[in-house]
Amino acid sequence: MSDPVGGARLQRVQLKRKALESYRRVVGDDEIAAIRSLASELRGARVLELSSTATGGGVAELLSSLVPLQRDVGLDVQWNVIPGDAEFFEFTKALHNGLQGMPVALTPARREEYLRHNAAYAAALDDGWDVVIVHDPQPAAVRSLLPNAGRTRWIWRCHVDSSTPDPAAWEFLRPFVERHDRAVFTLAQFVPADLSIPVTLVKPAIDPLSSKNRELPGYLARETVAELGLDVARPLMIQVSRFDPWKDPLGVVEVWRRARAVFPELQLGMIGAMAGDDPQGWRIYEQLDAEVHGEPDCFLLTNQLGVTAHEVNALQRVADVVVQKSVREGFGLVVSETLWKGTAMVAGRVGGIPTQLEDGVSGRLAEGLDEFAAAVCELLEHPTRARELGTAGWHRVREDFLITRLLRDQLVLLADVLRTPGASRDEPSPRVAAG
Ligand code: UDP
Repeated sequence: MSDPVGGARLQRVQLKRKALESYRRVVGDDEIAAIRSLASELRGARVLELSSTATGGGVAELLSSLVPLQRDVGLDVQWNVIPGDAEFFEFTKALHNGLQGMPVALTPARREEYLRHNAAYAAALDDGWDVVIVHDPQPAAVRSLLPNAGRTRWIWRCHVDSSTPDPAAWEFLRPFVERHDRAVFTLAQFVPADLSIPVTLVKPAIDPLSSKNRELPGYLARETVAELGLDVARPLMIQVSRFDPWKDPLGVVEVWRRARAVFPELQLGMIGAMAGDDPQGWRIYEQLDAEVHGEPDCFLLTNQLGVTAHEVNALQRVADVVVQKSVREGFGLVVSETLWKGTAMVAGRVGGIPTQLEDGVSGRLAEGLDEFAAAVCELLEHPTRARELGTAGWHRVREDFLITRLLRDQLVLLADVLRTPGASRDEPSPRVAAG
């Protein structure tokens, strides 16, 4: 009989090295010292991050910086992705949508498929971890499928807006989630009212030195964008997002059409990487492609056209206005990414966006097509004002949304869960500091 999860049960993600020291010039001595002091308590701690894809989307973006930095400060950290097939990821995307409030069809076959993948992963998982951090719904049942957790502490990290989940989706997930020792959410308003385990709040952050966010000379940014076929002498509006219903890509096209009535030269770039765990992406791409067919000034740019982190960096710098027309948003790393480049932004007044962008101070918040189109036109009409908002945004990100702050929060969280007796068990905390 063939292996239910296709052979490779433990997919370990390969990562570049990163050195905390190189962030000193960005965040200063005190921040580096604070991190080193927190890390000294955790030296040698064995931590496993478990998610569903190594490419595409905010979780992969976060972990590809956070894991190497945790290693650099002395922790023994691995990142695994749970192997899945098309059916599994169809269902887990439905669960993800369900957590954000969309009704989910929970057939017995789908439940079984979900549990089969989680059980296969659980069976292959080696022990000896001090902490396992499970991201989002895809691997959420792994903990409950282990006979006992031994001394390992389990954390469930939810990255979406789960404030009003679909009742069926939450009823299905909640017993799995509650087998963890701790749940982590981005904002207090996302914590489902009936969750019974302890909660910690942590906001995501961006890596200022990654190829997506590092400094890029203006000429290189423009050349990179021109190479994609855009005219850098004409105004440009972009959205950088997975093709996903919550990011309202068709709404972005409509906003562009309305703004183009005022600025006929305006181009639109829809940048959409296809995430490994998101089968909905291609279907939405097809819809979008049909919608803008024959529109030479609208560019659909995916990772298949070579749009990688460097190109996203360049586009976020060259664009006159970046839109994030989310209707639900856990955090929206793209907001901090854009503001870090000092680029003007119009973003949805939803979820984690307003914590990053204050309306009229560091950008514009909007709701609905009319408000979005008016704000885009306003920024195009007043480029000096747009630059001022962008600069204020840069300051905000520097204060609160750089990866070093997230690393600090992560170290505090790890120390805290290791100090706290397991929620469902009485074992003493594992010893992790190597003296
Ligand atoms: N992203 C990318 N290329 C794309 C589209 C998105 O690299 O074509 C990245 C984007 O820069 C950001 C992440 O994917 O780092 C999306 O994270 P966010 O939190 O905004 O949304 P999520 O996809 O997690 O819902």
